[in-house]
Amino acid sequence: MNTKGKGLNHELGEANCNFKHGMTINRRHSRIYSSWANMVQRCTNRTNQDWKYYGGRGIAICVGLRSSVSNLFNVIGHPPRGKTLNRIDNNRHYSCGRCVECMNRYWSLNVEWADHKKQARNRNTKKITFNGRTLGMSEWAEVLGIKRRTIKGRIDRGKTDPSEILAPPDTRWTN
Ligand SMILES: [Zn+2]
Repeated sequence: MNTKGKGLNHELGEANCNFKHGMTINRRHSRIYSSWANMVQRCTNRTNQDWKYYGGRGIAICVGLRSSVSNLFNVIGHPPRGKTLNRIDNNRHYSCGRCVECMNRYWSLNVEWADHKKQARNRNTKKITFNGRTLGMSEWAEVLGIKRRTIKGRIDRGKTDPSEILAPPDTRWTN
């Protein structure tokens, strides 16, 4: 699709129009819009299921990115296929690096389009040391072929012994 020479505002305007009239919203617009809307939700809406990992942890969105989806488009463009919105540094805010707030607070660009695996790894702050290796939950899940959910479930139930946390499902870790 040729987007050259056309502002996203204009295009989104068209897309919104189509949407209003019950026609199919352009897929790419819909993807960047939902990435943006989901970001706003998890950082600002306490009832959002992911609030505790974002807004609840003090993760904010700079004024530039919060104010409009076009500003997100201006800094990183449309999401490539299969990629979703990610913070480059997991402990910093969603920031564009160029709005007034970013300037005042010395926030650099901290958003990118990334694949899910990378994001899962980033999100995974809980590290587990076992057999001399320290990895996050998702990484252990990948290495051992156990579901991350299984590992997390054991931790949530209060298990602290890595050999129990990382045991194969329904069996004891033997050797
Ligand atoms: Zn900004």
